[in-house]
Amino acid sequence: MKTIPIQSIKPHFVSDDTLPIIENIENQSSNQYLNKIYQKMDVKTRNNISIESGYFILTMMPSLKCSLNCPHCYLTKEQRRSNDILSLLQLDIALNKIKAYYNKKEIKEKIILVYWYGGEPTEMGIDYFKDSIERINQTLHKEEGYIIKHTILTSLIGVDKSWFDFFKTYCDGHFQTSFDGLMRGKGYLKKWQEKVIEAKSEGLSIGAISVINYELLKLGAKETLTYLSSLGIEECSFLPFMLNEQNKDKSYGKYARGMQAWSQFMIEATEYYFHQKLNHQFIPEIGQLSFIVSQNSKKGLSNIAGQTLFLLPNGDFVLPDYKNGYEEYMRVFGNILKESFEDILSGKERMSFLKKQILRNHNIDCNQCDYAHQCVMEFWKENIPGDDCFGGKSYIEWLLNFQRDNNNNSDFKKIFNQLTQSILY
Ligand code: SF4
Repeated sequence: MKTIPIQSIKPHFVSDDTLPIIENIENQSSNQYLNKIYQKMDVKTRNNISIESGYFILTMMPSLKCSLNCPHCYLTKEQRRSNDILSLLQLDIALNKIKAYYNKKEIKEKIILVYWYGGEPTEMGIDYFKDSIERINQTLHKEEGYIIKHTILTSLIGVDKSWFDFFKTYCDGHFQTSFDGLMRGKGYLKKWQEKVIEAKSEGLSIGAISVINYELLKLGAKETLTYLSSLGIEECSFLPFMLNEQNKDKSYGKYARGMQAWSQFMIEATEYYFHQKLNHQFIPEIGQLSFIVSQNSKKGLSNIAGQTLFLLPNGDFVLPDYKNGYEEYMRVFGNILKESFEDILSGKERMSFLKKQILRNHNIDCNQCDYAHQCVMEFWKENIPGDDCFGGKSYIEWLLNFQRDNNNNSDFKKIFNQLTQSILY
């Protein structure tokens, strides 16, 4: 299979007529300006976005601390209880190396989407957050061609009004929160719901991230969306429950139900989404639906993880990778405190990882598949024999048939066109 030289991807990222939009970003709502920028990109650029081209999804995990014990978590208990943190001084080192890289490569416009994950990021305390976000915004400054957007993923348990004010000031009035039905228990769900209601009363916009698990499947897709709609949640995303070192002995078997169940859930969710949209009822946007529809309109390589890196408390840049088939672990590409950003990006580990993505993990079924370019296989791994694949092929096939069968309906077509323009995922 033909490969692309990753290091040489450096298209002009944003065309001149996009600049007025960038200058106006303060006046635009969450995600709106990014969608607009994206719509302005030429097709070649859309197909080649990568860290090297100036589009960087920087997932910050400067602390892994969390007091919860969620069944799907990829961290060990030791990591979740650890106080290790990437200090502000170390953060400065990382930021200056990223900046030096973009200066050297003479890339003028850079979009850096900073996702704050963990652990539970709010357990780092609001002061650490303010200082680190301000350092990021100052070092990667707008006047030097950076567009920075911060998004925090929080369990919401333990979050108070001061955090809601923080989300307004630093995160465009938006945050993400995990919602897994009753997987974490009734008491947990009750507390979470109270916090969501409080956040909505503060005027915040919310994205819910769900791992599809047995409890959510019992509730059903329609009921899940009805519930999220009743809370006023604007965006949702449904991820497969992945096997990892921590959950393989117990909770994976208890809660995971595989990709066929995921696809069925997504079909039901999509039918209900269109039903509500066509009846002008409020319904959250669904990340995977938007992704598949928008990818379907593009050509070239995609879902090769060329835009994203996770930063750990010790300075390691990592991404999820898989061993023994589909067991998840964090693969280390290099350490930003010891190496240059360029060396990490072009290093042996990342190059080999990207090659694995481009070659679809050498999966015969994936390399022969018409949907490889738009499926939701996020990081490539072996599929589970006898199950639907990790790309959700049954759902994609159903969705494309559903689109074709309804294409004569102009309202329906309009919704699909909107989804085509989306970068929500
Ligand atoms: S849809 Fe499935 S079989 Fe096709 S490429 Fe994606 S993961 Fe592989």
